[in-house]
Amino acid sequence: MRIAPWPSIYVPPLELKMPTLRLSTSAGERDFGADETLMYVCGITPYDSTHLGHAATYLTFDLINRYISCSGGQTLFVENITDIDEPLLQRATRDQVDWKDLALGQVQLFQSDMSALHILPPAHFVPATSAMNLVDQAITRMKINGFVYEVENDLYFDCSKFLDKLPISLDEALAIFAERGGDPTRSGKKHPLDPVLWIANRDNEPGWESSHGFGRPGWHVECCVISLHYLLGPDYLNVKGRSTLIDIQGGGSDLIFPHHFMSGAQAQAMTGIEFAKAYVHTGMVGLDGEKMSKSKGNLVFVSKLISEGVDPMIIRYALLQSKYSEDRMWSDSVLDSAYEAVNRIRLNLSKSEVSPAAPLLAALSNALSNDLDTPAALLAINQWCEASEENPSVDEAGIVARALDSLMGLAL
Ligand code: ZN
Repeated sequence: MRIAPWPSIYVPPLELKMPTLRLSTSAGERDFGADETLMYVCGITPYDSTHLGHAATYLTFDLINRYISCSGGQTLFVENITDIDEPLLQRATRDQVDWKDLALGQVQLFQSDMSALHILPPAHFVPATSAMNLVDQAITRMKINGFVYEVENDLYFDCSKFLDKLPISLDEALAIFAERGGDPTRSGKKHPLDPVLWIANRDNEPGWESSHGFGRPGWHVECCVISLHYLLGPDYLNVKGRSTLIDIQGGGSDLIFPHHFMSGAQAQAMTGIEFAKAYVHTGMVGLDGEKMSKSKGNLVFVSKLISEGVDPMIIRYALLQSKYSEDRMWSDSVLDSAYEAVNRIRLNLSKSEVSPAAPLLAALSNALSNDLDTPAALLAINQWCEASEENPSVDEAGIVARALDSLMGLAL
C-alpha cells in the first residue's frame, strides 16, 4: 500500500524573534531548531479510528513542528502506519473484512481527522507494508552484526547488550512486554525480552518474500527502518558526523517500553550510533476519571465528535488545555470550557480595536519554548482577551489571529 500524506496546511508567516525550543526529554532538557530537526513519530495501527489519545499525541509533535518552522528552522517529519500487525489482523477476522480494506478505510479516516485538527502532514507517511525490502536489508545487517537468532523459523533480536539502558525495572519490563504483544515465556529465546524481528508465515496470515523466508516483520523493526531510511536517506548505514541518528523519536508514553526501547536498540545494533537525541512522550488521555482503552470500550473518537457537530478547533483547544507530558482526563466539561474560551477569542478577534499584539506574541513564544507549556500559552490568550475587552487600543486583531494559527494551529 502506498499512501500520500494528508494535504498540506497553510502556516501564516510570523515576524517574531523567538526563544530556542527547549524540551524536557527522558535524557534531560534539550534544545531544538538550530539545525534541521529530524523527527519521527510513531503512527497508528489502522484498525480503529483516531481517538483523543492519538489526537493529543499528534498535536504535541505538530506544536514542535510549528514552533521550529515559525522560528526560522526546519523539521523533517516522518510518520509510519503499522498496517500489518496482530491487532489489525484480529480485528479484520472478527469483523470478517479484508485486512487491507480495513487498514485503508481507517487510514483515510485518520487523514481527515488530522486535516480537521489542523495537524501539519509529515513529509513521508509510510505504511509498514511498503517497507518490506528495508526490513529485509535491516535484518541482514543485524545478522551480520551478531544480533539475530532463530527460534523455529522465527527470527529474534538479541537485546542483551542494551538491557543496561532499560527505562524501567526488569520486572516491570517483563510484565509490560507480555501485555504489549511480546512473548517472554517462549522457549528457545536467549532472553525473555528479546523481540521478534521476522515472523515466519503461519495460519494463512499475510506474508512477504524475503531473504529470511516468507513471513512478516515484528513491530519494532518497521519503525527502526522507516525512520532511518526516510530521515537519513537510503545510505543510512554509512551516516557520518552525527552524534545520534535522529533528533526526536516521539509517541505516547505507552510506547516507552518495549517499542521505543527496542526500535532504538535495533537502530544502534545496525549502525553503532545511538538512535535518538531525545525521546518525547505524551501523557495518556482518560475519560471521566477512568483510563481510556479499547478493552473498556470507552474510547472517544475524533471523527465521532466532529460528526456530532463539535468544531475541530474546539477539540484542538481542549487538548491544548493540558500539558502534553502529563496524563489528563477528558469530560464534557473540558469540551464546554474550550467552547466558551474559543468563542471569547473569536469575539475579540472580530473587533476593530483590541489590546496590543506584541506582549501576547512574546508570551506565547516564551510559553511554548518552555517545554510546550500550552496551559501558560492559553492563559496569556485569555489575559489578552480580558485586556481587549477592558481597554481596546489598537487595530491588531489580525496579527493575533495569524499568530494563533501559525504557532498554536488554532485557525479561528
Ligand atoms: Zn513506532
